[in-house]
Amino acid sequence: MFQIKKEIVWEMGHRLMNHPGKCANLHGHSYKAIFTVEGDLDEETGMVLDFYYFGAVKEHIDKKYDHAFMFNSQDPIYKMLRKSNFYPEGLKLCSFPWEPTAENIAEQLWTEIVNVLVLTRGMMQNTHPDRKGCRLIEVTIYETATCCATYRHE
Ligand SMILES: [Zn+2]
Repeated sequence: MFQIKKEIVWEMGHRLMNHPGKCANLHGHSYKAIFTVEGDLDEETGMVLDFYYFGAVKEHIDKKYDHAFMFNSQDPIYKMLRKSNFYPEGLKLCSFPWEPTAENIAEQLWTEIVNVLVLTRGMMQNTHPDRKGCRLIEVTIYETATCCATYRHE
């Protein structure tokens, strides 16, 4: 069994609306995601999964999250922005029904990226761990150079 890892970085703003400290401010991070794929070697290619396939993952993240601002959809600032007449067309906001912590982002990216990789390479068997093929088993999100959270799909 082998594991391969791919790192992807992007810039994004967020705030934690219920945080008692400085994380309640509008601020941003250079995020880094590490995607871990596990599987046996494909005998023909000598690879678990060609890193080439992560190109689609990078594209997905760039399009949806790079230089975006991520809110909890219940955040009053987010609601105010959406209602405002000054809400600029095309402003890159994204919202989820949870606090945009590294933990929640890791789980969300697992869900999205599984689909991106399955579509890219039909051989991935993410929902059947015992079957042949490779699986996206882990997503780690670095919010700062020294703080990260990992979601592992069991
Ligand atoms: Zn932060």
